[in-house]
Amino acid sequence: MAGNWKMYKTPAETKAFFETLLPLVAQSTHADMAICPPFVDIAAAVEAAAGSRVAVGGQNCEYRKEGAYTGEISAPMLKAAGCSCVIIGHSERRQYYGETDATVLLKTKAALESGLQAIVCVGELLADREAGKTNDVLTTQFDGGIAGLTPEEFAKIVIAYEPVWAIGTGKVATPEIAEDAHKVIRGLVAGKFGADAADKVRILYGGSVKPNNVKGLMEQPDIDGALVGGAALEAVSFSQLVNF
Ligand code: PEP
Repeated sequence: MAGNWKMYKTPAETKAFFETLLPLVAQSTHADMAICPPFVDIAAAVEAAAGSRVAVGGQNCEYRKEGAYTGEISAPMLKAAGCSCVIIGHSERRQYYGETDATVLLKTKAALESGLQAIVCVGELLADREAGKTNDVLTTQFDGGIAGLTPEEFAKIVIAYEPVWAIGTGKVATPEIAEDAHKVIRGLVAGKFGADAADKVRILYGGSVKPNNVKGLMEQPDIDGALVGGAALEAVSFSQLVNF
């Protein structure tokens, strides 16, 4: 269960979030948990989460290690700051910051090389879905952004299916719609990396997951967890997702 805070919260708010969250998930050993705060909150999150099962992750990384890239943060920097994972290719990065399947692949490789687990996002726009192109889009994103990994690299990623029309809109995909897409993605994995890899890879659903809809989604056989924006901003609601 992973939380993507996007551009919300200060270090002080981060500390307060973890103070409330940790007792609520102290017994929650059934799920891996991660919170991905803005870069400036990572130090506060790592300190507050120390000794708990809640991992801290970045929301993005530059694929080059260092250099004259003003405003960027590299994967080794995230690792050194105490992160254990990083979200790659979120639709907001693709939409507003020009990320492509090619940069997703570069960033994923950079993250893995630095010892970070990559949470690699794919998902279709509303127009794609309405045009019946969901599977084509997922296939293109998979082929361009994930299929270029080696089997060893692939074994270390988590995939997040995030239909863009469901992110931050309150329009959650029905469990059946989400399950269908997850099945397609698992099939793509099987085709490229084999049945065992398809069986093992964790595929998270993301898009308006809330405490009142998480159970139906998690009951689907191909949905292994969730990547959550809005409902991960509040500690009690994130704990309810973890403990659904
Ligand atoms: C996200 O940011 O990845 C996301 C799924 O947001 P929300 O849960 O708010 O739709």
